[in-house]
Amino acid sequence: GELPAEPRVTALLNQAHARWAEVTAGEVADYIPALAEADPALFGLSLTEVDGTVHRVGDTAAAFTIQSISKAFVLALVCEAIGHEEVHRIVGVNNTGLPFNSVIALELNDGSPMNPMVNAGAIATTALMPGTSAQEKWWTLHEGLSRFAGRSLELDERVLRSESASNHRNQGIADLLTSYDRLYADPAEMVDVYTRQCSLLVTADDLATMGATLADGGINPVTGERVVTPEVCRDTLSVLAACGMYELSGEWLFEIGLPAKSGVSGGIVAIAPGKGALGAFSPPLDRAGNSVRGQRACAALSRALGLNLFASR
Ligand code: GLU
Repeated sequence: GELPAEPRVTALLNQAHARWAEVTAGEVADYIPALAEADPALFGLSLTEVDGTVHRVGDTAAAFTIQSISKAFVLALVCEAIGHEEVHRIVGVNNTGLPFNSVIALELNDGSPMNPMVNAGAIATTALMPGTSAQEKWWTLHEGLSRFAGRSLELDERVLRSESASNHRNQGIADLLTSYDRLYADPAEMVDVYTRQCSLLVTADDLATMGATLADGGINPVTGERVVTPEVCRDTLSVLAACGMYELSGEWLFEIGLPAKSGVSGGIVAIAPGKGALGAFSPPLDRAGNSVRGQRACAALSRALGLNLFASR
């Protein structure tokens, strides 16, 4: 099925925005000191269709660091580079049921990074980016994520410095992966590239376009450029369905029925294959790290627009 025509889509976006803007539940992330300064009132919703049409309401041009949402698009680039079998074999695709920065998950699974959406798996995935040095991997990654967005993404140097000075846990995870022979590059360098990818600045509009590229079989519907293959989109979206919303991925799928990825700065991208993608931004988070308003708005819109993948009618 198609999405409803305008002005219906924009009316539904406006409704969802007005309804959930009043909710003040959730906490802004503060374990990365620079993130604590985010304005909790910011709230933007953007929807890009696979034909390139964009609908938006609220703070959709407000820039924030992409954080864990980068994991979805780095996975796509790595799938494109090394393929389905190798991603399955080296990183894995099962949810840990534990927080994104869990060390126990690694220890319980013989050092397996488990999946590309938790920090261990994301650092292992970043290490699989094409390039013979950390610098080259970073360039390829930055260029690839920019192609998903359709514009050159900028780095937030302040957030990068703040996280680099406080990410002992990620350094520990990378060292632990190395001790299991599961990280195929220098651990300190890969944590640095990973922290950089998390510090790229995006907007809700960017998230919608990036997601719509995955919804459109790998063609960015705004620029018309092919970024990845349809097979890569299929593989990436299945991992997002299983693992994209932290340890609450099951509940998200039960309520919303779409592959999605969230990040601790308050972004969510939710992808409706063949239709388009929602980009949401609102900093207050639930206990797992998912934007409270973003989730509720996505739930309402998934229902109203008929996006749930599991609905037969
Ligand atoms: N850069 C953050 C970290 O590694 C990303 C966390 C997230 O968004 O889930 O802790």
